[in-house]
Amino acid sequence: MKYISTRGQAPALGFEDVMLTGLASDGGLYVPESLPQFSPEDMRRLAELDYPSLAIEIIRPFVSDFLNEEQLAKIVNDTYGVFRHKAVAPLIQLDNNEWVMELFHGPTLAFKDFALQLLGRLLDEALERRGEKAVILGATSGDTGSAAIEGCRACEHVDIFIMHPHNRVSEVQRRQMSTVIADNVHNIAIEGTFDDCQALVKASFADQSFLGGERRLVAVNSINWARIMAQVVYYFHAALSLGAPEKEVSFSVPTGNFGDIFAGYIAKGMGLPIKQLIVATNRNDILHRFFADNSYAKEQLMPTLSPSMDIMVSSNFERLLFDIHDRDGAQLKALMDAFDQSGSISVEPERWEAIRSLFSSDRASDEEVVSVIKQVSDECGGYLLDPHTAIGVKAARACWADQSTPMVTLATAHPVKFPDSIIRAGLEEPTLPLWMADLHERPEKYDVLADDKAGLHGYIRKILNLG
Ligand SMILES: *Cc1c(COP(=O)(O)O)cnc(C)c1O
Repeated sequence: MKYISTRGQAPALGFEDVMLTGLASDGGLYVPESLPQFSPEDMRRLAELDYPSLAIEIIRPFVSDFLNEEQLAKIVNDTYGVFRHKAVAPLIQLDNNEWVMELFHGPTLAFKDFALQLLGRLLDEALERRGEKAVILGATSGDTGSAAIEGCRACEHVDIFIMHPHNRVSEVQRRQMSTVIADNVHNIAIEGTFDDCQALVKASFADQSFLGGERRLVAVNSINWARIMAQVVYYFHAALSLGAPEKEVSFSVPTGNFGDIFAGYIAKGMGLPIKQLIVATNRNDILHRFFADNSYAKEQLMPTLSPSMDIMVSSNFERLLFDIHDRDGAQLKALMDAFDQSGSISVEPERWEAIRSLFSSDRASDEEVVSVIKQVSDECGGYLLDPHTAIGVKAARACWADQSTPMVTLATAHPVKFPDSIIRAGLEEPTLPLWMADLHERPEKYDVLADDKAGLHGYIRKILNLG
């Protein structure tokens, strides 16, 4: 399978290069040239499989020029073998025809483990074959960093450096990163904000000379296609469990960067009968404003109780815009240039109407999050939602067009990661799962650095022994 750039100027690449490249050389994002198709008959067969076996079937066509059957099976089985629930992505019923899919049984208790546990293993395999070593450099305001670290801690060919803003992430989030003690894991607390950390990442990718040509710099943020691919699987898993291909199923997805929900859109493109895809945002609602008013416009960032969705622009949204514009790279480049210039775009009304037959959207305030958490706890025997998931449930109930279609909200994080909202709802704070109950006693390791590019690069060179 070949992958093409949304801006039409970069060369088409195979899976391995796309995974190692991240952003295309023309500034676009890579997407498959065409999607593999699953017929109703194929799906009836897939419905019988457990999660890892299903993942192998869904992922195979995307990676077939990179991995043979046996290699793929080994990597996928290892990946989902580390999850702490036998069903991997269990469905929990909230009400008649209403479900949540728990995506938080991986090592860092958030859905990003589904993609990053796989990506770490895929990267290591590619680097091993090439006899290369890579450096992953990332910035995190919370969930991404810990999931990336857990995904790479066992990699033999990867050193990972993750920066977080010093004293500005929660204690659980910091400890999930800083208590991973491994030779190739390097945590850095930057004396600055998350934006400062991101600016350091950007500047480092723009000029990689500090690595002396000896190492490749790899991005594991959500624009990496391999992450989207891994997330397609759980849409199939849920829908097949709830009656597809005979029945349609709808999904509500708490999203900021449009990564997780874009995976649902891909699943639909592969033949899965999805009726509605509901975009659930917090007050940072650029996506909601697009789907409600055809206005994709940057606004000031506001901190919320759901910090993993606090974004100003949605990095994966370009992939949907590409399809909306009949995959015309030149048109898309003009549109994205206009957005860079003015911070605001809309699309032609017919194109916008067409996409709204599948997508609907909603947004929730912090007060609404707290009240949904309380309501669901009351309705469902004390069942706790994390604040991101609560936004999804609120949106599901607001946008559900036809209640005979099963509705699945993606539960993106374990409630223990975000206790503030639970406490505000007047409920008892959840406890850490047994296997990580000693998190607060584990030894920590991280270095504090100034917000300074030269200092950061010197630090990395020293650790990597680059002269
Ligand atoms: C990252 C994250 C999200 C948003 O994911 P997108 O890639 O923006 O769709 C939602 N909830 C949690 C808990 C997250 O960590």
